[in-house]
Amino acid sequence: MNYCSACGDKLCLKIPLGDDRERHVCDSCGIIHYQNPKVIVGCIPIWEGKVLLCRRAIEPRYGFWTLPAGFMENGESTAEGAARETWEEAKARVDNLAIYRVFDLPYINQLYVFYRCDLIDGQFAPGQESLACGLYDEHSVPWDDLAFRVVKDTLRSFFRDRDNGDYPVVSSVVEYTPRPRHPG
Ligand code: ZN
Repeated sequence: MNYCSACGDKLCLKIPLGDDRERHVCDSCGIIHYQNPKVIVGCIPIWEGKVLLCRRAIEPRYGFWTLPAGFMENGESTAEGAARETWEEAKARVDNLAIYRVFDLPYINQLYVFYRCDLIDGQFAPGQESLACGLYDEHSVPWDDLAFRVVKDTLRSFFRDRDNGDYPVVSSVVEYTPRPRHPG
């Protein structure tokens, strides 16, 4: 961040009075531009025992598979955001949302919240950010082509919990790990 979004003047990095860390501060108009983590909300949509996955049509991780998820917008709840993202990415309507997994990713300043939910009518189609969508059971999930570790963890927990008939809500902190190189 270089320039003030309020007055256009150059920003400087300093610790405001009473604060304990550096912020982008505008000396001209006095605004402190706080930067805080982004919230990503998503769904594990289920239809007839299968999970709805989307193949990404955008970077990062173009062509890899993911659960429908995206950045929470102002003015919506996390559950509303998760349902909205499922509509935008997979043209699927969902209900019975139940919070399921929370992941903190402090190394990239992100927080993921995933909800279990049901597809309302079994209908889906790729939205603008998806190349394809499909329903997968545990054995047909493209495990080696999932876009993100949080998606793989969420799907693994889901199938395990379903076998146990119990879906505890779990929160985890994810540490940075370099991505293994993909052959070819
Ligand atoms: Zn300013």
